[in-house]
Amino acid sequence: MLKYLIVILNRNAPSFCYYENRKDKTGNQELMPMDTFKTVLDFALSKNLSINFLGVNKSLPDTYREEINQYKNHVKFISLENDDGDTDNILIINSSQKDMIKDIKTSSFRNIILRVEKEHLKDLFSIVQSFLYKCKRLNLCLLDASSYDMDDLKTYKSELDKTGNFLVSEYKAGNPVEFSFLTDRILLNKMNNCNAGIEHITVGTDGNFYICPGFFHNVENSAVGNLKDGIKILNQQLLQLDHAPICSICDAFHCKRCIYVNKLSTCEVNTPSYQQCALSHLERDTSRIMLTKLKEIEPFNVIPPIEELDYVDPLLVLTGKVKKKMPGEQPDGKISGKEKINLKDSFITVKDHDRIIKLPRLKQVIPGQDAGREEPGKQLKEQKIVRKQTGDELDTETVKGLLLEILKTQKRILAVLEKGSGGQ
Ligand code: SF4
Repeated sequence: MLKYLIVILNRNAPSFCYYENRKDKTGNQELMPMDTFKTVLDFALSKNLSINFLGVNKSLPDTYREEINQYKNHVKFISLENDDGDTDNILIINSSQKDMIKDIKTSSFRNIILRVEKEHLKDLFSIVQSFLYKCKRLNLCLLDASSYDMDDLKTYKSELDKTGNFLVSEYKAGNPVEFSFLTDRILLNKMNNCNAGIEHITVGTDGNFYICPGFFHNVENSAVGNLKDGIKILNQQLLQLDHAPICSICDAFHCKRCIYVNKLSTCEVNTPSYQQCALSHLERDTSRIMLTKLKEIEPFNVIPPIEELDYVDPLLVLTGKVKKKMPGEQPDGKISGKEKINLKDSFITVKDHDRIIKLPRLKQVIPGQDAGREEPGKQLKEQKIVRKQTGDELDTETVKGLLLEILKTQKRILAVLEKGSGGQ
C-alpha cells in the first residue's frame, strides 16, 4: 500500500540514495511548475500520503515554501550547502564533504544520509564515527557498489567490524546511536526493504510518476503514469518480495534491495547483483557479532541470535552449492506443489504433481514500460545472461538465466496452477 510520495521539486535535487543525478551536471534548474506542484499536493492529500521533498534549496521561491509548510505530514531532504540548521530536515552528505563536518550542528534528533564514494571506503570507520557523534541516526549509502571487487569487499568488512566494535562500546555506555547498516538488522524480524513502487512513488518536475528518483533522473521513458491518469505500473508484481526468487529466501532484513541498482546491474528489477547480496551479508554478519557482544544488556538480551551463515550470496542456496532450508521445502528437498522447472527451446515446462504444463515464454515487461515501447534499459549497460551447461551440473549463470525465465512466466504459471487446484 502506498504510504508516501517523493516529490522532486527541481532537476538539481541532490541524490539521497544510490542513483546519481546526471542531469544536474548541466546546471540547469528546472523547477516544477506551481500548478503542477499544487496538483501534486492535492493528490497526496487525497490519498493521505506523507511527502518527502527533494530539491528544497536556498533559491526556492517563497510561494513554494509556503505550500510546503502548509502540508502537515512532510520531510525535507536537504544538501549540506542548503542546511539551515533545522534538525527536522534529513541532511544529505557525500563522503567527499567529510571535512565540512564541523559545519553541522550536533543534534540527538538529527537524521543524516551519508553517501560514501568508493575511494573513501578504506576510511569508512573514521568517517562514520565522526558523523555518529553529530546525529541520532546515520544512514549509509555505498556508491558504485556494483563495481566492488573482492579486495573492496574485504576492506568493507574490516571497516564494518571496526564500526561494529565502536557501536557496541557506545551501546554499553548507554548511547544508542543508530547506524542503518548495522543496527537495523539486529532489531528487524522481517524484510524492511526500500519498497519503491509499492510503499512509495516519485513524482518528477514534469508531473509524471516514476518508480523512484533514479528512474526519473537517469532512465528515459520510464514514467509510470501521471497526475491526470494516475499511477499505472505494469507488472507491478515484479517489484514484490514474493516475486523475487533470491531475495524471498534471504534474511538480510535490512537490505535495501534496490530495484534501480538491480536494473542497472542485472537488467532485472527483481534480481540483485552479487555485490548487493555480498555487502548486505557482510553487514548482517557484523550485526550478528555485535548482538553476541551485547547479549548481556537490555533490550538485546531478549533478541534472538542471528544465525551464522557460511555464504554471502543467497544464489548459492538456490543453486544447491550450500544447503539451507527454503520456505515450503520438505525433508526430501523438494518444494511442495511445484516440483521441477525445465527450460526448453520455446516453452517453459512446469511439473505440477502428476501434471506437465507447457507454457510459452513471455516477453517481460519492465514496470512502467508499455509492451510496445522501447526498453528504458536502452541507455543502461546491456548485459546478457550467458547460459552454459556442463554435464549434469548447472553453473551459476545457467541457474540465474533459468531464474530469469521463471520470472518472465511467473504470473502465467501462478494463474494456471490456481486454476488447476480449483482455487483452493
Ligand atoms: S542480500 Fe541479496 S537476496 Fe538478500 S534481500 Fe538483499 S539483494 Fe535480496
